[in-house]
Amino acid sequence: MTPKLVNQELSYQVIVGAIIAIVLLPVWIPFDYLIDPQNFNTFLTLRVVGMLVILTGLVVFIKTGKQVAHYRKSAMLTYLTLIVSMLPMCVLTSEKLPYYIGFSTVFFAVSILVVWPLRYFVLPMVLAALVLGVTHWNTSSDLKSTITGMFLMINVFSMSGVSSWLTYRSFMKNESLLNQLGNLSNTDRLTGLNNRRFFDHRLQEELAHAQRNDTVTAVLMLDVDHFKKYNDHYGHQQGDECLRQFGGCLHRALSRETDFVARYGGEEFVVVMPNTDVGGAETVANKIITILGDLKIPHCQSPVDSFVTASIGIACSKSKSPQEIVALADSALYKAKESGRNRFVVAEE
Ligand code: GH3
Ligand code: MG
Ligand code: MG
Repeated sequence: MTPKLVNQELSYQVIVGAIIAIVLLPVWIPFDYLIDPQNFNTFLTLRVVGMLVILTGLVVFIKTGKQVAHYRKSAMLTYLTLIVSMLPMCVLTSEKLPYYIGFSTVFFAVSILVVWPLRYFVLPMVLAALVLGVTHWNTSSDLKSTITGMFLMINVFSMSGVSSWLTYRSFMKNESLLNQLGNLSNTDRLTGLNNRRFFDHRLQEELAHAQRNDTVTAVLMLDVDHFKKYNDHYGHQQGDECLRQFGGCLHRALSRETDFVARYGGEEFVVVMPNTDVGGAETVANKIITILGDLKIPHCQSPVDSFVTASIGIACSKSKSPQEIVALADSALYKAKESGRNRFVVAEE
């Protein structure tokens, strides 16, 4: 599960919470009449207004594409509407206990459903509890009912506190595990660079973005020259170290945050540069060749140079598919190899 899915889950949580609230508010109307017929009209008005506010909020939330940016506001609206519609009931009626139970249930349910990461839910919760406590103390002469009401409230608040804290803790744990998993599944173990999986996914996104905005994307396909000979002579461990150093060169050659590098496989790497034309791609290719040359990694078996070199194929496009642009960069790389290695070639469309 990716963080995106977690966020989606949060927005569905808000929708479910709002629907439960809309259903529960009218369910209690007959009980209002049975418990306290004198205040029935006021309570009915409060419940209807509460339902309408939550319903409107829900429609706005769904209309705005269930955006996670809005989920905090929507959850807060549902919660505050419930408090604003139920708090006066607890204050107005002389039959307080059933309304205390209802009100406490709202706290409890909200704390389990959405208290994470809306820690500021606690403030209205505490304020409402204070209002209830003071009202109860001032109006009730019945000590037994006061003690029962307070006991109930303290119980519910402590349970809400513990449950929301546990929910919060497990959520944070899951999120950090998900992040770790996400990073691992996109990272190449040997070089620490992005892997092929990441590249496939991001290239598709970048090209779609470029097509929408009519911008050019540059793809560089890079391959270490005569690497088999390097491995055979210096050993695979030294070969691995060479690949790590080459990866570092690529990283250093890129300056824009939107550019990225990935290991394509074996000793082949790829660089993607959004919003970059042929001129820009050539500059970066030159920079890579220079940085690698400056490293002077000995390669006594290479017919090209006494140090490790690489060949680069460049392809730029506004409208090509990922497969097409990779094939184009690959054919340019092949030409760079053919024409002597340690150079770059730009693909002809
Ligand atoms: P060219 O100049 O034409 O690119 O020749 P080359 O020898 O670089 O290419 P070839 O495809 O013949 O060989 C690639 C070599 O890369 C063979 C393989 O042993 C080595 N290789 C691939 N992955 C790794 C790796 O993870 N570690 C090490 N040490 N070597 C690797
Ligand atoms: Mg190769
Ligand atoms: Mg090679």
